[in-house]
Amino acid sequence: AVKTSGKRDFRYFDVRFFEAIQQKYRAEAELRHAIEHNQFVIYYQPRVSLATGETSSMEALVRWAHPSRGIVEPRSFIPLAEETGLIVELGEQVIDSVCSQLAFWTRQGHRVVPVSINVSAIQFAKINIGESLSAALRRHDVSAQLVEIELTESVMMAGNEAVSSVLTAIQGMGIRLLVDDFGTGYSSLSQLQELDFDTLKVDKAFTARLERSEASKIFYKAIITMAHSLGMKVVAEGVETLEQVHSLKALHCDEVQGFYIAPPMPPTERQSVLAPALSKMM
Ligand code: C2E
Ligand code: MG
Ligand code: MG
Ligand code: MG
Repeated sequence: AVKTSGKRDFRYFDVRFFEAIQQKYRAEAELRHAIEHNQFVIYYQPRVSLATGETSSMEALVRWAHPSRGIVEPRSFIPLAEETGLIVELGEQVIDSVCSQLAFWTRQGHRVVPVSINVSAIQFAKINIGESLSAALRRHDVSAQLVEIELTESVMMAGNEAVSSVLTAIQGMGIRLLVDDFGTGYSSLSQLQELDFDTLKVDKAFTARLERSEASKIFYKAIITMAHSLGMKVVAEGVETLEQVHSLKALHCDEVQGFYIAPPMPPTERQSVLAPALSKMM
């Protein structure tokens, strides 16, 4: 343990602290450079309906196409992006990229399903995300019906007037709202009802425990019953086995997403995102 009371200890702490700051400064500079040079790409992962076996939507998941490290996953850079505020610029690029992709697929005459975009609390706090969305939709001539927003409970926890008025405006545009990682945060049922969310995405931790714990099954059952009576759909995240698919179907869960169905894939794999091995589902 480092104490800061003695002078020597303090100096020791200071050096380490300085090095940590330097390293963080370098990481931040690298991230900023990557944003300026458009090194980010979007992967798409399908959400599949348990009733029809069809892809009903896909989630946009950002990756850093790093010139030397290859494809870097979000957990290695999203926290720093949030801490430094760079998530705002990165988020703008994600929104633009998704709208541009949707416009491209539409022009090519492909079947197009909605795409959900993850938005973090910091983005809500710093800019009017509703304005970014409507500008991007207009810029690419994409229908708001094709875009969905995934928010974690932390966004709602911010609980201020500004956030809920932006969310209401986003909904007014025709963009659907989804709650991400449901069950890990602290949103109250009244907030869920007030904001009229379209879908609850149950966190993968609950899906992982489904086979092993009766409590997880009970949790899922209660969530599904509640969501349905409030007019919301339920998506199970992190579905990795056929057993989980069967259990979720028996629980009347609406949609599934996870490695068992399909991993996140680059847009060139559009066919596989739209038609993951359907026979596997039944
Ligand atoms: P999330 O929104 O909850 O996304 C789901 C994560 O679970 C993704 O990780 C996905 O690859 C992973 N996943 C999918 N199926 C399975 C499965 O069967 N098992 C397991 N164990 N994991 C599965 P990923 O792509 O690494 O993204 C991590 C998080 O980073 C996302 O969690 C989201 O919170 C954040 N993120 C990703 N893209 C963006 C973005 O464009 N903007 C913002 N603000 N955050 C993003
Ligand atoms: Mg998500
Ligand atoms: Mg999630
Ligand atoms: Mg998450």
